[in-house]
Amino acid sequence: MNCEDAKNLIHAYADGELELLKSLELDQHLKSCSVCAQIFSNHHALCSALKGESLYLKPHRDLQSRIHSALRKADKSERKLRNAIPWSWLNTGAALALVAVLAWTVVPLLSTRSVDDMVEKEIVANHVRSLLANHLTDVASSDQHTVKPWFNGKLDFSPPVEDFAQQGFPLTGARLDYLENKTVAALVYRYRKHYINLFIWPADDEAVTAAKVLSRQGYHIIHWTQSGMRFWAVSELNKDELQEFVRLVQRSSNNRM
Ligand SMILES: [Zn+2]
Repeated sequence: MNCEDAKNLIHAYADGELELLKSLELDQHLKSCSVCAQIFSNHHALCSALKGESLYLKPHRDLQSRIHSALRKADKSERKLRNAIPWSWLNTGAALALVAVLAWTVVPLLSTRSVDDMVEKEIVANHVRSLLANHLTDVASSDQHTVKPWFNGKLDFSPPVEDFAQQGFPLTGARLDYLENKTVAALVYRYRKHYINLFIWPADDEAVTAAKVLSRQGYHIIHWTQSGMRFWAVSELNKDELQEFVRLVQRSSNNRM
């Protein structure tokens, strides 16, 4: 089994849906391949985090009463129609009413609030894990001409890599990481004693978005889109320092175009 096969099977494996023979093959591969083992352990950590209570969306009280009233209405019309229509159809009607209410209220809420929220959580989790697990880099080098080619064949895109040692942010290396169900590039920079993880993966389009600054659990996160790539920088640096770093990355990406 090669890495490409392994990556395709890791989800099913983590969810316990893989047939025995394939499981054994993948097991063997994970024992001998640290890159795939890391992808698996990231996915596993993400799955556990998703099962955590913090990600469950508590519905607003308003939603509860809207569902109840929709059910009451469905129930009333059900009684009216009881003699006219067969039972199975009535249950379908009530279920459809409920689905309609849920679709109108819950789905937009989830899609606007949770997507960025999820990425932020993953970004911080991956940053913390990289520091804790002593797995900051797969390739340790301050030389962009070593780091950039290291990604060849490991990713289906080529992330921009530049060293900012002159400006106080030396490149220390890179690794593969896993975000939004994708393998992404993680470049690691240092500022004094602190580390910055810069995650990069292709954007859906060429749109450019301005840098957005967030803070979460004591970490600062800045994300933006540029040159067809999404960039997420995370660090325990203060906001001004991290913004300085982001400006360097943005400028060098602009110069490259
Ligand atoms: Zn592998």
